[in-house]
Amino acid sequence: GRAMGVFTSGGDAQGMNPAVRAIVRMGIYLGCKVYFIHEGYQGLVDGGNSIRQATWSSVSGILDDGGTIIGSARCKDFRERPGRLRAAKNLIDHGINNIVCIGGDGSLTGANLFRKEWDSLLKELVDTQQITQENAEKYKSLNIVGLVGSIDNDFCGTDMTIGADSALHRVMEAIDCITTTASSHQRCFVMEVMGRHCGYLALVTALGSDADWVFIPESPPGPEWEDQLCNKLKNTREMGQRLNIIVLAEGAIDSEGRPITSEGVRNLISTRLKYDTRVTILGHVQRGGCPSAFDRLLGTRMGTEAVLALMEATPTSQPVVIAITGNQTVRVPLMQCVEKTLAVAQAMNTKRFKDAQDLRGQS
Ligand code: ADP
Repeated sequence: GRAMGVFTSGGDAQGMNPAVRAIVRMGIYLGCKVYFIHEGYQGLVDGGNSIRQATWSSVSGILDDGGTIIGSARCKDFRERPGRLRAAKNLIDHGINNIVCIGGDGSLTGANLFRKEWDSLLKELVDTQQITQENAEKYKSLNIVGLVGSIDNDFCGTDMTIGADSALHRVMEAIDCITTTASSHQRCFVMEVMGRHCGYLALVTALGSDADWVFIPESPPGPEWEDQLCNKLKNTREMGQRLNIIVLAEGAIDSEGRPITSEGVRNLISTRLKYDTRVTILGHVQRGGCPSAFDRLLGTRMGTEAVLALMEATPTSQPVVIAITGNQTVRVPLMQCVEKTLAVAQAMNTKRFKDAQDLRGQS
């Protein structure tokens, strides 16, 4: 059987554990050795005790746990070639040349780079006598499969990322809780939700919670938005509504690309309309708590498919990401998805909102 390593990297997300569990168990079921690589790329760079063989029971009882039992981290060393060289040596020392990377676009960009460099890393390791020529031959191909773990649902190529559904639940619960108290006191609440460049969480939770207004980066409001927002709120109050909910994505901007902040919106409303207006920034609760049913199954399905993809990998096959489209798990090319995701971020940064929407639409 093959030896495979699994790690979780970047921001954590509910559903990473179900994915780790599925990878370990499917791997063992198919006769492979499966290794945990702890703390993301840092564990790969550090080697030693950070890379440990997993057993069937080491993933018992984690299906319903949020976060990731093998730890996640951001790792500076891996961004530089010397770090990646050490990572390559550590993998070969453990006899591993199949890896599953569970992370966001940054982590998958790193995986893509690692794979591209693999030949030259091996050559350098042989030249500096850190590994034998025989081992260089034996491990000449590095097979990589990516799973997208991200509460933001910000990756091109998959309908859903692992963790996004659980984050939606968390946000919805929070808005539901706020709604009751807001109504008692006839208050207006600005709810700030995560998502960086991506307004998915904000948009979906706004629709699902009967919010009065939503700010998302992909669709900045026109120049008259302040008047429009105040009129809208006023109308709802005149019709008897006792509260207002405004959902704001953390990356919200106006049509000039200037940030729209929750504090700015609060100020506007309390100054103009004199409503008692409060800000709630949900923060890290959104990535906490247990995975939803959807994320447990998504992680499980994607993890299982990742192992199958590794088993079928050949020296010439390109790295893939396991995606979900139309409720089917499919393999999509990692490199193109990463490039497209970065292109969306670039378009947003340079205020080409239409381009960003088109790029997202195509995926
Ligand atoms: P996410 O995967 O959630 O988007 P980051 O962007 O922080 O999170 O990336 C996680 C880690 O992946 C980084 O700390 C770094 O170790 C690695 N990484 C990200 N981008 C690159 C890159 N361009 N080259 C090499 N490694 C990278």
